Amino acid sequence: MIVVLDKHTERNILKNIESFIRSSGCELKTTVFNGCTAVSVSEEKASLDKKALRELPGVSSIINVATLFQYVTRAFKQENTVISLGDAVFGGDDPVIIAGPCAVESERQILDTAFFVKEHGAQLLRGGAFKPRTSPYSFQGLEEKGLKLLQKAKEETGLLVVTEVLDTADLPLVAAYADVLQIGSRNMHNSKLLRAVGGQDKPVLLKRGMSAQLEELLMSAEYIVSEGNERVILCERGIRTHVDYTRNTLDLSIIPAVQKISHLPIIVDPSHATGRRDLIEPMSIAALAAGAQGLMIEVHPDPDRSLSDPDQTLSFAQFATLMKRVDLFTSWSRTHKNRLQTE
Ligand code: PEP
Ligand code: MN
Repeated sequence: MIVVLDKHTERNILKNIESFIRSSGCELKTTVFNGCTAVSVSEEKASLDKKALRELPGVSSIINVATLFQYVTRAFKQENTVISLGDAVFGGDDPVIIAGPCAVESERQILDTAFFVKEHGAQLLRGGAFKPRTSPYSFQGLEEKGLKLLQKAKEETGLLVVTEVLDTADLPLVAAYADVLQIGSRNMHNSKLLRAVGGQDKPVLLKRGMSAQLEELLMSAEYIVSEGNERVILCERGIRTHVDYTRNTLDLSIIPAVQKISHLPIIVDPSHATGRRDLIEPMSIAALAAGAQGLMIEVHPDPDRSLSDPDQTLSFAQFATLMKRVDLFTSWSRTHKNRLQTE
């Protein structure tokens, strides 16, 4: 249950509402979103007199929602969350394309990639500086040097930057360079990190844990939003199954399923989902057909020499072809949508 307060409610009025809720033995958490205060009640007890609560000064409305995730639901907010970043609008009419290497490796590599993907329609540049590698012996990223190279690429191309934060200790450093903070699959359950990114003002790209269920993904998003950061972009990146011909299994049905429950935008990363270059294009188009509001694609000037994830990384020529198909599909679906609306 969420208690939404009147705008500009004074502190003593909020305190009175909080103690009324607490006195019935319920747990609560207060969040301020752009000047609007809400109190979420997570452990609703029968002893809570909702009628009396509704009549307390300062209470604007009470929204009945499931207890484990609340702010991310359409019950709390019906309309889609729209996140505008430069030319990119997550949750807008057209899909947002994030492209770049798996990891930042050198100035030449990131600059060449940034210029190329921008010229071919990407709106955001990706590139890991802190890499979550499965083996401790694999390339771990250039860390601060990588962040500085991303900044250079941003200055030269104007592309905003998406990069991963692995740990709360790195957050101030990464947030100083990133335009979007990525939480990787391996950290989707790291509640301390989720809370920390929820407490700062950069948008967050939250990747689905590789074995996470839909509700677990939404609960992780709730950790971020309930700290006051509403700008969360969900990302489906495949889950572990028994298949052996792809790195993961791309779960496209989660897109409409999430969109039914949640107002947050959701995009797809077909690179990590498939682990195979030849499957990126069909899965990108399939993701858009399923309603994905964006794509994140790994691209490298010389993919075979990529220090991480070479098998799933596109060459420049492959990325250019992909973008042509994405554009064709996007204009086809726009026409189709218009036609359906006028029928
Ligand atoms: C990445 O996008 O750089 C990455 C490591 O992906 P994931 O967290 O989905 O494995
Ligand atoms: Mn990668």
